[in-house]
Amino acid sequence: MVLQAPTVPEIAKSAVARAIIDLNAALGGSKVSVEPETLAQFANDDSDVLGRMPDVVVIAESARDIATTLRVAQQTGVYVTPRAAGTGRTGGATCVGGGIVLVTTGLASIKSIDRRNLLATVQPGVILADLQRAVEAEGLFYPPDPSSLDTCTLGGNVAENAGGPRAFKYGVTGDYVLGLDAIVMDGTELSIGRKTPKGVTGYDMTSLLVGSEGTLAAFSELTLRLLPKPDELETVVATFDSVRDAAAGVASIVAAGLTPRCIELLDDQALACVRRDGAAIDARARAMLLIEIDGSNISPVVERIGNALSSMSGCREVLTAKDEAERERLWSARRQLSRSIRKTAKHKLSEDVVVPRTEIVHLLEKVEAACGALSVRHLAYGHAGDGNLHVNFLWDDDSERPNVDKAIDQLMRDAIALGGTLSGEHGIGVSKAQYLPLEQSDALIALQRRVKDAFDPRGLLNPGKIFPRVGHTGC
Ligand SMILES: Cc1cc2nc3c(=O)[nH]c(=O)nc-3n(C[C@H](O)[C@H](O)[C@H](O)COP(=O)(O)OP(=O)(O)OC[C@H]3O[C@@H](n4cnc5c(N)ncnc54)[C@H](O)[C@@H]3O)c2cc1C
Repeated sequence: MVLQAPTVPEIAKSAVARAIIDLNAALGGSKVSVEPETLAQFANDDSDVLGRMPDVVVIAESARDIATTLRVAQQTGVYVTPRAAGTGRTGGATCVGGGIVLVTTGLASIKSIDRRNLLATVQPGVILADLQRAVEAEGLFYPPDPSSLDTCTLGGNVAENAGGPRAFKYGVTGDYVLGLDAIVMDGTELSIGRKTPKGVTGYDMTSLLVGSEGTLAAFSELTLRLLPKPDELETVVATFDSVRDAAAGVASIVAAGLTPRCIELLDDQALACVRRDGAAIDARARAMLLIEIDGSNISPVVERIGNALSSMSGCREVLTAKDEAERERLWSARRQLSRSIRKTAKHKLSEDVVVPRTEIVHLLEKVEAACGALSVRHLAYGHAGDGNLHVNFLWDDDSERPNVDKAIDQLMRDAIALGGTLSGEHGIGVSKAQYLPLEQSDALIALQRRVKDAFDPRGLLNPGKIFPRVGHTGC
């Protein structure tokens, strides 16, 4: 834990005691816990944000449990933090003000897969990989694929508008959410959005709630769009002499009008981690692209990508995965990369800035220059097709921390200066709240605060998230 959570106004102990009594009376003891081990289990997410112990945890099993919990929080004036699997990377589900943590992983049923309308209706606690397996068994496809897919939930994905490698071709979670049932602080359940492919009735409230990081409402059901499952799939690995060459490779694929579903880039240090984990990658390579192509009759596309890359100077080798086992090995190494990097330093902070893909090289040069001047260890990998890079900062000794903070601050400024954005997929949460004014004007932040007030007038739902504390009041 390397980031302190913001201080939010203290809740009165008597209010918390009242909330616990009311929750027990309304939900029964089996769903409400004040056991220290349970409180500790749900205090933090997978970010570096140091949270605070909740006072009570509710394990909801139904929409009614969620509504009851929010209503009790509202009536007693106690904070409530929605939480799913806790794999979030920016402290979105970290409890920063005490009070109630509302866990929604107990709502874990795939209610229907509708082949004819290409729809799935799911509860928010369904694990992403479980939905993917279920729809693929029906010949269908749900593309969003954050690397945490074996553990994260669809509710968490929608709340963060999660992305993944396939976003290059297929977009992010929000592109697949047609509608949702959302419960607001007074316990009202709202049916938002639609079940039809088209629909423009009223404001696009679905889009507002997608990516709202648990600060506006809690979801109890999601209606998701599906696609037919692609017939064919190939994975291509291209190795390069430098990350600059690899980035040029991305540009050449896009310029040739080719649309693989993923173009992932790994720099020298990221590649070293993948090798340490057993992936057999040419020891002389200094960067790699992991590319995946899907669709029908894809051989000509695979060939064109191979030709485009291998004709470039700086490209060492282009290989196609021999079989499903080799494909899975490569992707598994990529999915484990974040955890592998964690083993290489005592501390790491991982960012997820996005720049126009033509600016990737410039961003990497700026990171190199800033980290060189500040003597900060770093590496980068990510969804290069989207310009979305995970720049990781690594350190072992606390004395290095001030320079790491300077390097992160510079990264944020550089990303914005290059026409990019602070976060491609992890959200703002606690970790990036202080940088929000770099990208958004005071007027825009103030407008979003008023939207937040309309949903949550007492500022009790997931406090301390998204909005910077300095210069702005209450959240
Ligand atoms: C190894 C690893 C790899 C990752 N790779 C990726 C990646 O490739 N792409 C990516 O986008 N992310 C990635 N992540 C981040 C994370 O997995 C995603 O943000 C994911 O969507 C979080 O889902 P969760 O179920 O864990 O939600 P949590 O972390 O529990 O919560 C996330 C947010 O959702 C809110 N929330 C939870 N449930 C509800 C609900 N029912 N209603 C309303 N709000 C709710 C919470 O308040 C919180 O703000 C990765 C994380 C890890 C640990």
